[in-house]
Amino acid sequence: MNKLLIGLESSSLMPLIAITPLSQDCYETIWEELFHNSFIIHRDSLAELRTIFEFSANTFFSNPIARMQKLRDISLWKGLTPKGVAIKLLLDGQAGGWIGNKNSRVQTFFFSDVIDSMDDSITDLQEFCNIVVGRMKAKVDHFNHLTTPQNNILVIDLKNALPYWGYHNVSADFLEENRPLTVQVQEDCASIDMFMDKRLPARRDAFHYHMLTQEHVDLLLVGDANFESNICRCAQCIKCSPSIRILTNKRRNDLLNL
Ligand SMILES: [Zn+2]
Repeated sequence: MNKLLIGLESSSLMPLIAITPLSQDCYETIWEELFHNSFIIHRDSLAELRTIFEFSANTFFSNPIARMQKLRDISLWKGLTPKGVAIKLLLDGQAGGWIGNKNSRVQTFFFSDVIDSMDDSITDLQEFCNIVVGRMKAKVDHFNHLTTPQNNILVIDLKNALPYWGYHNVSADFLEENRPLTVQVQEDCASIDMFMDKRLPARRDAFHYHMLTQEHVDLLLVGDANFESNICRCAQCIKCSPSIRILTNKRRNDLLNL
């Protein structure tokens, strides 16, 4: 059977690094249908994922670790535990958004298992703060490690997928999958400056599409519902126009009978 060249980008890699409502669809699409093919991704897609925990303003409102450090300045009142206060602090940032951006809802998904890991016997907020902040930083380091290639290869082992939105979003097959996926990481073959006329989220979609098209991929797998409206329309991209498959949350909804 001829091998297809399949392009991944930030939005289709994220569901394999950390569990989201798109993870089940991403898993079934790759492991059940496309696994024997070749997969590539560009360095900028990995770099984009690593910006999730970089904060230019680095304020209480943007950075969940800065919010958690407020535990040092507050007191426990009326039956709340350090864990309860910690969850409220995580939620008390910027609103909005869906999977990987800098809003407090998705940050709370990301760090809720860190809060869960804390020992219930710790009632001193200073001690709780020191430990939880250390574990949050370790989780960010772990996420960044999972998105950093070795010798231009990213090996994705689903056993390492971070809990993020919760294990209820994926099947037992996902959690027990033992075939690692090998993804070739390509050097960026264009400059994002080509797309400065586009607004920020669309700019990176167009950039990734353009670079994958330059590599002559047969199929692009993406997790961003708006991806097709953001693609590059240069002469070369129009000529090649690879197929685009958009991941959805339907398969996790089926799992949960939603
Ligand atoms: Zn193009």
